[in-house]
Amino acid sequence: MNERKRYVIAADMGTTSVKALLVDPEGVIHAAHSVFYPLHTPAPGIAEQDPNRMADGVLDGIGELLRKTEVQPEEILAVSFSTAMHSLMAMDAEGSPLTPLLTWADSRSAAYADRLKQSGRGDTLYRRTGTPIHPMSPLVKLLWLRDENPEIFGKAAKFIGIKEYVFFRLFGKYLVDHSSASATGLLHMDTLSWDTMALEEAAIQEGQLSELVPPHHCERGLPDWAVERTGLPADTPFVIGAADGPLANLGAGAVLPGSWALTVGTSGAVRTTVKAPLADPQGRLFCYSLADGLWVVGGAVNNGGILFRWTRDVLATQEAETARASGLDPYDYLTAIAREVPPGSEGLLFLPYLLGERSPYWNANARGVFFGLTMSHEKKHMIRAVMEGVVYGLDSVAAALEEMTGGAEEVRVSGGMAKSPLWRQMLADVLKKPISLMESVESSGLGAAYLGFWAMGEKAGLDGIREWTHVQEEHQPNPQASGQYGELKGIYTRLYQRLEPEFAVIADYQARQKPMEEGFTKTSGTKG
Ligand code: ADP
Repeated sequence: MNERKRYVIAADMGTTSVKALLVDPEGVIHAAHSVFYPLHTPAPGIAEQDPNRMADGVLDGIGELLRKTEVQPEEILAVSFSTAMHSLMAMDAEGSPLTPLLTWADSRSAAYADRLKQSGRGDTLYRRTGTPIHPMSPLVKLLWLRDENPEIFGKAAKFIGIKEYVFFRLFGKYLVDHSSASATGLLHMDTLSWDTMALEEAAIQEGQLSELVPPHHCERGLPDWAVERTGLPADTPFVIGAADGPLANLGAGAVLPGSWALTVGTSGAVRTTVKAPLADPQGRLFCYSLADGLWVVGGAVNNGGILFRWTRDVLATQEAETARASGLDPYDYLTAIAREVPPGSEGLLFLPYLLGERSPYWNANARGVFFGLTMSHEKKHMIRAVMEGVVYGLDSVAAALEEMTGGAEEVRVSGGMAKSPLWRQMLADVLKKPISLMESVESSGLGAAYLGFWAMGEKAGLDGIREWTHVQEEHQPNPQASGQYGELKGIYTRLYQRLEPEFAVIADYQARQKPMEEGFTKTSGTKG
């Protein structure tokens, strides 16, 4: 390596912020700087962002990062990108945005997803592209845009995601890496080319999409204004990188067969890598490209740590207050209460589907259920049952993943809930697998940084990332607890199946309550 060029800057573009990380060849993060940008959610279903603020955020984040450290701009080997998946915007022929950025969380196309699934073509499209038919998918968003905004759709010269916008502004070219493209629902997995059936479904031409390039592709030649804004030399290589989900596996070091990554922050996901594209015949899992012939298979759940937040804010408000008054973290306090109850919550089960569910059931109508309540159950049982319910939900994804890819020798965990040792032990006992808490929480950013070194020829293979990742603590399954959970898991799965028709009924009932609520709001809003 050129002696002076020691660092890669990872630009990790998430939904709430872009985080710039300064990483050395040993994987040490020397500095980080985040620039936040808003997510506009003015009405249910809408989740948009301003692509210019995001692109500016990347450049300002890099500029601030460099200003924070002693590192000279000449010491930067490359900048490498991780970006949130599934975003979509339309561009006109002059290169100006026709729409804001529709994020993964924008669900206005929900009815189009349902229709595509019911048509029978959805299943074929999923098998070809690896992207579930869901409102998050750019393919489904295109169907919505075509029918609901025909004027914009008609004027659009290009349909792109956020990283394509950043590269277009910097280098004047529409480029997309295979990894981000593989999460659009428009890429054929086997050929890594745009999928003719998907294009036909969306009624768009291949020329309306970006040129496909591998994640190690790099561009040089920053325009003067970007040099000024970042402080980087104009010839600094910008490595296009990959999507944040697959990069999280890389950054966790879960890139070998039998190595899984499990993240539970607000939502959650379980993923592993495979050497060839793999679609689940039952449609429970996604399959996205990482890089260098590796694919990431897994499932994401809506009902992760957000349920523990609900427990803190709704179910156990008083306990949370007590914790705060004593200067304790409410989550740690609730965890200590849950610890008083034995594994299995003495027969109190919780189905965690407060937000409907993605993997493995893909059922927006699923709802939460406490089952088995008796007079002997106390609030502490309910708290523990919620924690266990989140684990059962993840376990049902893990079961599908195991069926498709084989068992796991290690599960590398990260995210807010992974802070709790009790919760990690529950995971080990329910999944019946060793659970490893990783030292670094920056998995996508670290993955992007490693990819940057690899792209510049400084690392031999992607599995070398394991030298960067360190296990902080390991939990082994406890056979007795595993046995108890095993019995309850059977009840849990049957309960979901039996309740499925009733979930649709109650969801319909709840939907019909909404207009009345709106009426009330309006009335009180006009007072005085
Ligand atoms: P995000 O997905 O928004 O980045 P985080 O990774 O910060 O979220 O995780 C937030 C969630 O982690 C919270 O909703 C909570 O459920 C959980 N959490 C945070 N701290 C703890 C803790 N000490 N013990 C258990 N769970 C925790």
